[in-house]
Amino acid sequence: MQAAAVAKALFARMGVDDRTAISGEKGAPGTFEFERNWYQFYGAGHIAGTTRMGSDAKTSVVDSFCRSHDHDNLFICGTSTMVTVGTTNPTNTGVAIALRACESIVKAASG
Ligand SMILES: Cc1cc2nc3c(=O)[nH]c(=O)nc-3n(C[C@H](O)[C@H](O)[C@H](O)COP(=O)(O)OP(=O)(O)OC[C@H]3O[C@@H](n4cnc5c(N)ncnc54)[C@H](O)[C@@H]3O)c2cc1C
Repeated sequence: MQAAAVAKALFARMGVDDRTAISGEKGAPGTFEFERNWYQFYGAGHIAGTTRMGSDAKTSVVDSFCRSHDHDNLFICGTSTMVTVGTTNPTNTGVAIALRACESIVKAASG
């Protein structure tokens, strides 16, 4: 409940529309056509990896603050930094990682 309230407040401040609801109507967001049948996306949405986090530039893309090993001024935030995930939802952890990265950027910028 608390995370949902924070997300709503963040979205409101950013002017982001809430598109959570999926109507299931043909052509609506979250639906797709395949061989003249309409389907709706459900589950299997916990995508991770590709910009994995780690301390070794040879085996990872970003450090523990989401800063690219290759580019000092590039931060990659999100669940793509997760090397693996459990069975539970990853988004709150992704947001926590992003906020941690923001804090490190602000700290660095303010000397
Ligand atoms: C069907 C489904 C259900 C889910 N349900 C849940 C749930 O109930 N709870 C939960 O915690 N998680 C859920 N997830 C997982 C959750 O959606 C993701 O973990 C989360 O959105 C990842 O956030 P992110 O910011 O890392 O990536 P994304 O939300 O994918 O954001 C990446 C953004 O980058 C943009 N982008 C990509 N390439 C470029 C480019 N070249 N230039 C500019 N922009 C680009 C994309 O358009 C996108 O907006 C679900 C996922 C799916 C698919």
